[in-house]
Amino acid sequence: MTTKANLARDIANCQLCAGLLPDPPKPILQLGFNAPILIAGQAPGRLTRVRGLAFDDASGDRLRAWLGVTREQFYNPSLFSILPMGFCYPGTGTNGDLAPRAECAAHWRRKVLIQHEGLALQLVIGHYAQQWHLNSQTNLTETVRNWRAFWPAALPLPHPSPRNNRWLKANPWFAEQVLPELQAQVTRLLAGRAGLY
Ligand code: SF4
Repeated sequence: MTTKANLARDIANCQLCAGLLPDPPKPILQLGFNAPILIAGQAPGRLTRVRGLAFDDASGDRLRAWLGVTREQFYNPSLFSILPMGFCYPGTGTNGDLAPRAECAAHWRRKVLIQHEGLALQLVIGHYAQQWHLNSQTNLTETVRNWRAFWPAALPLPHPSPRNNRWLKANPWFAEQVLPELQAQVTRLLAGRAGLY
């Protein structure tokens, strides 16, 4: 069995956080080892855990609109790899979902990323992913405002959740300046690949 197949199997069977999660471990990710675009997110929510598919919700609809892609393209692992910072739903606290389990990135992230070939763009969603992938030392708004420092290899994004509507309204430059550049780059990167046309 190849290293990639072993990795996929080992993640699917991971029990590292058993007893530390509200439910039995259920990793939810999309391994696209040859995809040009990585989506580095936070962690599945409760609904995503039930459905078993990353971004199969209003957040995903908005993210796909930001990218200018269809569901079919989004869920094509030859186009997109989807790796949350924590692969399993971490539970909910008084202020919303808990942070991704730190064990997950510590144990899996480098092993998985090193198997990716040809990544051209990392879309880095939320504070936890921005700390890990971009070594961000600033808050999310400042990191996203400073997006050109990472572009075009990576792009920090706010979470596309409807809970962020107020952030999006308060920061109109994001839709005006960042999204057109993002959509143009995604179109360039996916041009000619399976699933685009
Ligand atoms: S969160 Fe990650 S490390 Fe923890 S059980 Fe799930 S897959 Fe394993």
